[in-house]
Amino acid sequence: MHTVIHRSIARARDVDPVGAFWSCVSLAGETSPVIGTMEAALAALRLVPGVAGVAVAVDASQASVLDAGWEGGAPWCLVTGPADGDPRWCSPAGGWALLQPALAGRGGWAQAPLDGAVTIVPVGGPSGQVTLALAIAGADGIEADAARRAALLPVAASASAALNALAALTALQSEVVRLAGENHAIGRLNRLQGRFVAMASHDFKAPLTAITAYTEVLLGQPGNEAFPQSAEFLGVIRSEAARLLRMVDRILDFTRVEFGPQLMTLAPAMLTDLVQEAVRALAPVAAARRLQVVVEAPPGLPRAEVDADLIRQVIVNLLGNAVKYTPAGGHVRIVLSEEESSVAVSVRDDGPGIPSEDIRRIFREFYRAEGAAEQAEGTGLGLSIARHIVQLHGGHIEARRLPEGGSEFRFLVPKELGELTALPQATGLDVAPEKASQVISVVLRAIGELTGSMSVALLLVDGRGALIPVGSMGLPRNAKRMQPVILTEGWRRFLMDGHAQAEPAVVAGDAHGGPWAGEGDRLYCPLVDGDEPLGLIIAGRRAGEAGYGEPERHQLDVLTRIVATALRHLEGQEARVLEALQVLLQARRSGIPTSTPEALHLTARLARALGLSPADTRRLLYAATLHDAGMARVEDEIVLGAAPLSWDERDEVDRHVEQGCELVAPLVQDPVVRGFIRHHHERMDGTGHPDGLAGDRIPLGARVLAVIDAWFSLTKDRPYRRGLDPAAALAEIRQHAGTQFDAAVVATFAALVDPDGAVAPRT
Ligand code: ADP
Repeated sequence: MHTVIHRSIARARDVDPVGAFWSCVSLAGETSPVIGTMEAALAALRLVPGVAGVAVAVDASQASVLDAGWEGGAPWCLVTGPADGDPRWCSPAGGWALLQPALAGRGGWAQAPLDGAVTIVPVGGPSGQVTLALAIAGADGIEADAARRAALLPVAASASAALNALAALTALQSEVVRLAGENHAIGRLNRLQGRFVAMASHDFKAPLTAITAYTEVLLGQPGNEAFPQSAEFLGVIRSEAARLLRMVDRILDFTRVEFGPQLMTLAPAMLTDLVQEAVRALAPVAAARRLQVVVEAPPGLPRAEVDADLIRQVIVNLLGNAVKYTPAGGHVRIVLSEEESSVAVSVRDDGPGIPSEDIRRIFREFYRAEGAAEQAEGTGLGLSIARHIVQLHGGHIEARRLPEGGSEFRFLVPKELGELTALPQATGLDVAPEKASQVISVVLRAIGELTGSMSVALLLVDGRGALIPVGSMGLPRNAKRMQPVILTEGWRRFLMDGHAQAEPAVVAGDAHGGPWAGEGDRLYCPLVDGDEPLGLIIAGRRAGEAGYGEPERHQLDVLTRIVATALRHLEGQEARVLEALQVLLQARRSGIPTSTPEALHLTARLARALGLSPADTRRLLYAATLHDAGMARVEDEIVLGAAPLSWDERDEVDRHVEQGCELVAPLVQDPVVRGFIRHHHERMDGTGHPDGLAGDRIPLGARVLAVIDAWFSLTKDRPYRRGLDPAAALAEIRQHAGTQFDAAVVATFAALVDPDGAVAPRT
């Protein structure tokens, strides 16, 4: 902090010391104001005729009041001789306390870092306390001392005035910070209020219009007996008023939900029922427009874990739009389906469709496509409300224009989890029950989505020699309830082997078909922590779906190691582990290619070709699965939307490598793997991030990841551009071999993806 910034003393040469002080002092600027005052005083005192040296000392405790950046223990005395130009900082022995007698006019400054007789005067700070001491050394003698004092006093008075101004400035600055904070809070409140009003007006309009219209008719009928329908009209008013009240409650709930998703009441619900309710509610409008509405749901559709009221509102909004925007005589089709970890609802219509330039903006508040105003009344809020609700559920919503015309709106919400048992105490997973069930839920969903498995089950070893089912997702309807399994020697051997298998011998030998007997392909994946079996994950596909291949087995081996690490390191950092697992899930949803079975398989082949040991290959695959997940989250935060990153933003993402590492850190205990993840944005020429490592100093694993990343990000199709064909992508990577990428890794990689030296361009 004590960087002495040279002020131009020359500027002050021809003026008196006080004038020199004021021309040098700067209270706000590049240097600390206290240091600025000290430097100015020093410069001024050097102009006093006949000085042999000058010093300015500061009471560190006072300085830190005026300048929050002042470090305790830092040098506290700035000193110079008249001839040498460089003032230097030092800490004379004895410290500030030893100056007290001298400042009180009793004796000199014995430890002064100056030669000769020293005259010293105090400088009062804003609180009246002595804050600085100014000292000049020169010839011995009473007269010389008096002359020096006469020169010192006006400079001391100026320095005191400067320190007072500085105190006022500091107070003002902290006031500014406080006001800025308040302003921010008020801004947020304002926005919330705006959103509340907007939502309220959107949903209040219809019932209010009805109430007003009916009331007007009644008012126009003096003597109600003469108007036979008055009872019916009053009934409408009452029911509409009740509807309005429900909406007020709903909106209040909704605003509350925004602040705490924990206020949602999640429970298993059959989405088909919610869809049917919405269809019934809109039937009169659909009939009036002669629209055909059909609902299709596959048998055995699982229930979803949702707040039924909120999701009903999403369906009503989507169906309402379909009905509203589809011309008379059109068709609306609602299709429900099961996805890996979710239930999906798609609403299709054969209306005008949404112009493609509007698709990305359609979910924004108040956004209406061009021409919408002529087609139907609306405010542009229904879809933003729908998106908000779906996101609160951790789901996803999207819109597209159908090739045959019309629109499709599709949303996914988490499917119901099988019974979650409390974690067996004896497993040593010491964690609060609600946190445990959140972790289990994310584990099941992440495994399901990353591996394309509709069913996933998690069993943990308890201390009494059994594998206990603690959670499951999407088990086939006909699957019988999962049972605990006795941890026989055979099971122990299988678990300790640590590799996913289709049907381990121990299951084949079990008359009951193992913990879960169902149709479709299954993989049994051991969870191991060091020398201890921790549990088992079973991932399954539906009968009729393609089975698991070797790439999927590799992927599951890596994922189970990550899950084992997460479970083992839960204690005391549940929230961080949960966040890290969620990041993994998000990676799949944002289409990060590097953790797909194919990418991991390619990485494993490259590792083998480079001669990496099996242990290092395992580490590399572990890093490959996680390294981009954290980055994806960071990227999402930097640029929302599908536009390509600008150079600034790219640079911004690079700078956030550390933040990405931090997100996945709870899942990475091995320091070597941490190194791979941390350094995958380094460049061979040393211009990368975050540490600017060059050449061999970048861990080999990180150099491999850099090439794999580049390959997938170049070849992958994005919403805003088509991926390059393999030949062009390889040429691009080769062009940067040696500067960005490790040339040897690039050569081995090229031989792997292009063994004949001529990749066929993509057709
Ligand atoms: P609103 O319907 O009140 O305008 P929404 O947020 O529900 O607000 O919809 C936003 C815009 O999306 C609409 O103005 C319309 O342009 C477009 N839109 C929504 N659904 C459809 C649909 N099914 N077909 C065509 N356009 C649609």
